[in-house]
Amino acid sequence: MPLPDYIKKQYKKTRTLHGNWYLMNYKYKFNLSRTKVFLKGLKDGVCLGLKCRSCNTVSFPPRLICGRCLVMPDQWVRLPETGTIATGSATYEADDKNRERPLPVIAVRQDGADTIWLHNMPKDIDFHSVYIGMPVKAVWAKERTGSWFDIDYYDALEDPAVELNKKEQEK
Ligand SMILES: [Zn+2]
Repeated sequence: MPLPDYIKKQYKKTRTLHGNWYLMNYKYKFNLSRTKVFLKGLKDGVCLGLKCRSCNTVSFPPRLICGRCLVMPDQWVRLPETGTIATGSATYEADDKNRERPLPVIAVRQDGADTIWLHNMPKDIDFHSVYIGMPVKAVWAKERTGSWFDIDYYDALEDPAVELNKKEQEK
């Protein structure tokens, strides 16, 4: 097969060098300007999403740059406390060595938002009752401090779609 013009010579194997990559030595600049407003909202018991003026994408928690059009979103919008489970997984408590009681870790899409975030459900919930598309509602921590944990967990809401299916089956 002929080589493209920009490749002058085809090598079977290029040179290899041993090296180490010290990831711990990296310093990252992290802009907290958006996070501060978001956390202040949580402290006040308000869910604030950040809306991109260019494509109307709402991120919750806020994203510094819109992933769709690469502009800085700057429009805060108040979101309801409800959302839907977008996906999830199982986790276990440290003392549950035989993994007998799975606990759900859920990715919640807050109503009115286009992004998801990871959260917990109440510890006494039956893991097998949790499903994708399940409606949930944020439960606030007793003492809010302006942290990510001001929403303690998401509790299950009655699903009108499930109720409708039950009524259909009863007929
Ligand atoms: Zn955008």
